[in-house]
Amino acid sequence: MTLIDGKKIAADIKGELRERAVAFEERCGKKIGLAVVLVGQDPASQVYVKNKIKGCSEIGIRSFSHYLPDTATQAEVLQLITELAKDENVHGILVQLPLPKHLDAKMLLAAIPPQKDVDGFGAENIGKLALNETSTVACTPLGVMELLKRYDISVKGKCAVVLGRSNIVGRPMAMLLLNADATVTVCHSATENIREECKRADILIAAVGKPKFVTADMVKPDAVVIDVGINRDECGNLCGDVDFEAVRNVASYITPVPGGVGPMTIAMLLSNTVKAAERLFR
Ligand code: NAP
Repeated sequence: MTLIDGKKIAADIKGELRERAVAFEERCGKKIGLAVVLVGQDPASQVYVKNKIKGCSEIGIRSFSHYLPDTATQAEVLQLITELAKDENVHGILVQLPLPKHLDAKMLLAAIPPQKDVDGFGAENIGKLALNETSTVACTPLGVMELLKRYDISVKGKCAVVLGRSNIVGRPMAMLLLNADATVTVCHSATENIREECKRADILIAAVGKPKFVTADMVKPDAVVIDVGINRDECGNLCGDVDFEAVRNVASYITPVPGGVGPMTIAMLLSNTVKAAERLFR
């Protein structure tokens, strides 16, 4: 069994991005910039935003943080996004989800111009992904594809099973695998015989948000198992959607939690931001 080291791959990618950020600055006379918008006090969101800002400074790009109170109105958030959309120092805009319930996330995300939509959540980018056209792809599934690529794990012709169909992970993950010529099955809460579906997978991607959902008897021997989940177990410890200790004995490759997909998400956000800036000055 090979442990997929997302932390190391993410560090390698950040090194590559740092060089591109320097080259951009030399060529264009300004730094690449990412605007991060956080509304409210959600503790998990605060940690994610802090790590994203740290990632920016690690590769030498500017971050512009905008913290709004959870009382911020739709009009106030919309106005901020509209200003960031026009700002020439901002190449990427990230609105941290989830937003407080009184805000219309769909409408706010739609206000981000597709070329600055570095999270790849906007309809234009998702549509292009569905059409297998060049697009900015959601960071977590993009990070999974990058891990597979850097470990020389071929996807073409393989049976891939994706657990979860959220707009930010499962759905784009399935489209990426399909675009890479895998035969893809997507499972969700209404799927019957989920165990049997999983057991057929050469590549199993778990993104359900349920601690240790994938047990060893659901995994085909020598399958590649990618764990996207970030959960707390009954003792409050961080764990994925996969029962790691049991499944590692069955899988050929497996990602740990933490240190697997998580670091890749930030690396891909930075990569999408660098690409967005480079596209403007091509
Ligand atoms: P989500 O929006 O809650 O979606 C969960 C998906 O799992 C849904 O499609 C749901 O099906 C499905 N599901 C739930 N219970 C199920 C069950 N018992 N059997 C089969 N399918 C089931 O979650 P998400 O945003 O995609 O995130 C999934 C996990 O990934 C979470 O643990 C999250 O924290 C983690 N995550 C990690 C990263 C990272 O950087 N590593 C990034 C994003 C998310 P329905 O559609 O039928 O409801």
